[in-house]
Amino acid sequence: MRGQGHWSEGVPDESITRDEAARLVRRLGRMLRPRAVPIVIASLLLTAQVATLLAGPVLVRWGIDSGLTAHDGSVLNRAALAYAALAVVGLVLGRAVTVLVARIGEGFLRELRGRLFRHLMSLSMGYFEREQTGRLVARMTSDIDALQELLSQGLVLMVQNVLLFVGAVVVIVVMSWQLALAVLVIVPPVYVSSRWFRRVSNVAYREVRDRIATNMSTLQESLEGIRVVQAFARESSFTTRFEATNEAQFDANLHTVRLSARYFPAVEFSSVAGTAIILGVGGAMVHADAISIGVVSAFVLYLNNLFEPIQQLSQFYNTVQSAGAALGKVFTLLDTQPTVDERPGAFDVPVGDLAIEVDGVSFSYAPDAPSVLDDVTLAIAAGERIALVGPTGAGKSTLAKLLARFYDPTAGRILLGGADLRDLTATSLRHALCVVPQEGYLFAGSLRENVRIGRVGATDADVDAAIAVLGLTERFAGFPQGLDSEVHEGGARLSAGERQLVSLARAALADPKILVLNEATSNLDPGTEHAVEAALEALMSGRTVIVVAHRLSTAARADRVAVVDGGGIAEIGTHDELVARGGRYAALYAAWQSHHAAH
Ligand code: ADP
Repeated sequence: MRGQGHWSEGVPDESITRDEAARLVRRLGRMLRPRAVPIVIASLLLTAQVATLLAGPVLVRWGIDSGLTAHDGSVLNRAALAYAALAVVGLVLGRAVTVLVARIGEGFLRELRGRLFRHLMSLSMGYFEREQTGRLVARMTSDIDALQELLSQGLVLMVQNVLLFVGAVVVIVVMSWQLALAVLVIVPPVYVSSRWFRRVSNVAYREVRDRIATNMSTLQESLEGIRVVQAFARESSFTTRFEATNEAQFDANLHTVRLSARYFPAVEFSSVAGTAIILGVGGAMVHADAISIGVVSAFVLYLNNLFEPIQQLSQFYNTVQSAGAALGKVFTLLDTQPTVDERPGAFDVPVGDLAIEVDGVSFSYAPDAPSVLDDVTLAIAAGERIALVGPTGAGKSTLAKLLARFYDPTAGRILLGGADLRDLTATSLRHALCVVPQEGYLFAGSLRENVRIGRVGATDADVDAAIAVLGLTERFAGFPQGLDSEVHEGGARLSAGERQLVSLARAALADPKILVLNEATSNLDPGTEHAVEAALEALMSGRTVIVVAHRLSTAARADRVAVVDGGGIAEIGTHDELVARGGRYAALYAAWQSHHAAH
């Protein structure tokens, strides 16, 4: 189910083992070390804030015992004033803690996002062909969100609650260990039921997410396939299917409500029971003169500090699990090494004419995958135009990718101007050789900015000149705001042919010695097709060109044609030679010609 996969992605449900958790925490600790000073300050502020919370009931006790009971108005006033002052201090501290922790947490996340982005940019093309963009985006969104929940709120709440709980227990034991013992009887049942609720609600909420996903994917599939559904009059069976998944979602939701309905009232009850115990036992103790009324009041106020932390901490467990799983995935991504890397001591592409030599190259996409190319040898002279043709899946694009060093050969080598591609600096290689992909991608911005991507620091005049060389000045001027026309992200407003023109202009601006072209397979409208062909012709002139040709007219115009098939070059020669030879190419060409004559 496509929709389901999509939905559950980024919901980090995996549990992590203790060992993994320890490793993650150590690594996180190392990454947080530069922020040690603010972290220590925040911890101190937080401790102070908890102290103000714990001191409140002590003042209340003082006010009641030494003020009210002793009929001493001035003590009562002082107690009230002190209580108010304490509240203000607590407020200020709370605010400072929130801001400081957010600063630390958000700063760390910003750095992490930046690191992830830089790392992604540095990875090799092969990585992006393997990984789905959606998954990578999830690293930046849902995984970072899971970490944010932990760093910005979770951790503070945890520390605060642990301090509150421990502090409250210590204070009530000191005030009256007998009464404390009576109240603390409530803690184990609350702890056990909170653990139970965490476990079952985790499962239940996961179930809800799964069922929502299934329901959504039913909806999505039915809508996307609506033509088929209606064409075959299958509306009612699809409706039945939706009703089933819809009911499953309803059931799952009701289940979570039932669980909550058992847990929350029980906790509420325990809290009331705790108050009752304090009043009953405490009242008897007051009667026996064992404790004062102020102590009983303080106990009632401390009761919350016993219950809330237990509840909060059991929720915190989920946050930690999600954040741990997310952190693990983020680290895995950061640890991925680029497969095609610049080696130390790499040098620039030699100057002068650049002949290309493919020397005994074999290649497979993965160690255990079948080899796509097998011992291919091919020499391309500087300025030569060579077309790669052959059946789909033969390895033409793969050969082109190897020439551009998107991948390194598994065996053999590729020489450019006599130097192995692996010895050359990445920047100089990209200057010397430019790849024009099948589909030109457009970024949000103007046409001019999109063309400018071809060369860093190109001026407006450079862009204009590149467009003029391709004979496209008028065509681009025909857009509503000329070159300043905005294009949508992904180039939604431009036709496929126009996107290609932008792509060609980029290459012209880059002005490389060698062009690697992957001819578009899609058919363009005749008007644009003509412009694309003319621009392409202008772009290719005076350069070494390797073109993966889908149209044999392109092959016919090349200096030489190489037929790629069966993991190697089956035939090579000029168009005329190959046609005269009557082999594979001749057959392909004859078939292509008769097909085109028929249309
Ligand atoms: P062509 O361009 O001749 O149609 P390709 O070079 O695209 O052929 O593909 C050659 C073979 O390599 C095919 O079997 C294809 O499935 C496989 N292939 C292409 N790209 C990848 C990739 N990124 N990962 C794994 N296999 C791939």
